[in-house]
Amino acid sequence: MSKVYIFGHKSPDTDSITSSLVLANLETKLGKEVEACRLGKINKETEYVLNYLGIEAPRLLESVEDGAEVILVDHANPKESIDNLDNVKILKVIDHHPVKINTAYPLYYRAEPVGCTETILYKMYKENGVEIDKTIATLMLSAIISDTLLFKSPTCTDEDREAGKELAKIAGIDANTYGLEMLKAGTNLAGFSVQEILSLDAKEFDLNGVKAVINQVNTASIEDVMQIKADLEAGMQTIIEEKSLDLFMLLITDIVNSNSQTIALGKRADLVEKSYDVKLENNTALLKGIVSRKKQVVPILTENA
Ligand code: MN
Ligand code: MN
Repeated sequence: MSKVYIFGHKSPDTDSITSSLVLANLETKLGKEVEACRLGKINKETEYVLNYLGIEAPRLLESVEDGAEVILVDHANPKESIDNLDNVKILKVIDHHPVKINTAYPLYYRAEPVGCTETILYKMYKENGVEIDKTIATLMLSAIISDTLLFKSPTCTDEDREAGKELAKIAGIDANTYGLEMLKAGTNLAGFSVQEILSLDAKEFDLNGVKAVINQVNTASIEDVMQIKADLEAGMQTIIEEKSLDLFMLLITDIVNSNSQTIALGKRADLVEKSYDVKLENNTALLKGIVSRKKQVVPILTENA
């Protein structure tokens, strides 16, 4: 039997990378032949995690042959996946996003409204009676901290907190100290081109007919990122034209104070003003307490579109 590829979404974040590694570990222990893969460049936060553990990143998957068997983690939206998703066999999906996929065949689909894919994987280890070692615990904990911004995001559930506590114990890590270092490593945008910053965590959405890209970058200092505002805007404008977008919303999220500065461009930038009752001045506004694209941005914009 041929190998099964496991991968998370394009522009991979820590959850996508670690979930492919962690699920590959679980599947292997259960006797399956699988390979952890990734669909893009490793970001600095994930690099910090891999370096901390001294382990390799999953293999970069340029393409998948038609007919291959795959398992999707941390996504199911075809827009965020491999280009020929329609021509492969999806065996499983393990995810914590809205269900956006239709297949003509039955598959194992597990989605739970929790803050991180790893929280689901944590439960799967328990259900299968497979032991979680230190490395796996650190990978899982890192992703939970990443997705929930150190358990502060409104996406964070009690299950994420419980898993986090247990995993920190196994990993022998102080979650707060380690987590803040890890998040800060991810906020270091030095060395990235504007183009790279704009694609690091960019996702495309159809907001009730409004074609949008919403991109989020984490920072410990909004002012630092705003110094290159003009360059960011020029880059965003180019992408708007290339993709015929109605809206490009950049969220610059302050991970220490849990606020986001937004830069919004496009003919539907008014949607941001309407959704948050703010006025964009020079295309920008501070969105107080907004840190979660999934819970506090996408649904609100969709409702107002
Ligand atoms: Mn993700
Ligand atoms: Mn995730």
